[in-house]
Amino acid sequence: MLFGPTSKGRERPLAGRWGSRGSAAVTIAARLTFDNVARSFGSVHALRGVSLDISPGEIVCLLGPSGCGKTTLLRLTAGLERPTAGRILINDLVVGGREIHVPPEQRGVGLMFQDFALFPHLTLLENTAFGLNALAREDARKVAHSALERVGLAKYADEYPHILSGGEQQRVALARAIAPRPGILMMDEPFSGLDTRLRDEMREETLTILRETSATCMLVTHSSEEAMLMGNRVALMREGLLVQVGTAEELYHAPADIHAARMFSDLNEFPVIAKAGKVDTPFGKRALKGVASGSEAVACVRQRDVRIVPAGRGQAGRILSTRFLGETALLEIGVQGLDEPILARVRESHAKQPGCEVGVQVDLKDILVFGVPSRDKGDA
Ligand code: ATP
Repeated sequence: MLFGPTSKGRERPLAGRWGSRGSAAVTIAARLTFDNVARSFGSVHALRGVSLDISPGEIVCLLGPSGCGKTTLLRLTAGLERPTAGRILINDLVVGGREIHVPPEQRGVGLMFQDFALFPHLTLLENTAFGLNALAREDARKVAHSALERVGLAKYADEYPHILSGGEQQRVALARAIAPRPGILMMDEPFSGLDTRLRDEMREETLTILRETSATCMLVTHSSEEAMLMGNRVALMREGLLVQVGTAEELYHAPADIHAARMFSDLNEFPVIAKAGKVDTPFGKRALKGVASGSEAVACVRQRDVRIVPAGRGQAGRILSTRFLGETALLEIGVQGLDEPILARVRESHAKQPGCEVGVQVDLKDILVFGVPSRDKGDA
């Protein structure tokens, strides 16, 4: 039985909204809402009050370090786990809460996990049709066939998984996930097992398929590049909390804290002390509001924002080493007045040889400054 909010805020049962897992004639993208969702495992607080509203058809990428709760959020959405507190709603109907638990097969949520294991003893068609148990056998085969066609593998429908490459197996897993035309698709690091070239291809292809099927999607990744590429929005998690949610541009240009900044850029970091709402960085003074005088803070400059100019301009520096990285080069520079060398990422054609005297400039607007929360001290 399913439940939805009433105008009085109480839950009312909604029978028969979702049937068991079959294939809808068309995908109807669903709204997905997390309302203060928490999940603990004994003393481990895997999720601590997550609230997020995902619009129908939107792709949200969950990004964060290992153990921050990404997979737990996916498993709760799919109904494989129950929240300890809070509610999960699909199209404004509660599907998961302390008292309510709609079973996975009635949620219309598709899953594609990292280890997209296919059954070795089933053909690709049978693998793809595996979850379509609400359909008559022939109908399930037709739906599975068209899903395989969509990922370009219909010609192998009667073959077994072992003949496929890793990328092709991944395509079958995608076909299996989209075959029931779920309103919501959960993808847990779907590309992590693929080599770089295949990964780029699969990302593009998956994006095209997601747009076509218009399913609402939550995709877990460790890669900030993948999150920015795939997501309409990126949800940054840490220690069971949502730290920041926004577009790739918002997170890149205005990171909420030093950890968020580190996820998106390679930084030079300088410990500084706040004084009267300002900090004195190696490249000039910057404002830092809301931090008491005498507090520790950290000033950051992205490696790509360090400009190398002719000696005599900017701050005096000397190139200590140069690493060739293809289109760019990474320069290690000793800068007068700084204890530690800084790193600058420049176009390869602008690279300088070790020993070369240079000037170093950084625009004030390119300096990010963050207060250091007391529990982070010693870590920044
Ligand atoms: P990764 O990126 O490494 O997959 P994650 O962000 O997906 O990590 P989760 O798998 O959601 O993290 O785990 C969050 C925390 O909850 C971790 O500390 C993990 O050990 C713990 N955890 C998850 N599932 C269980 C479980 N079934 N029993 C006990 N602890 C669990």
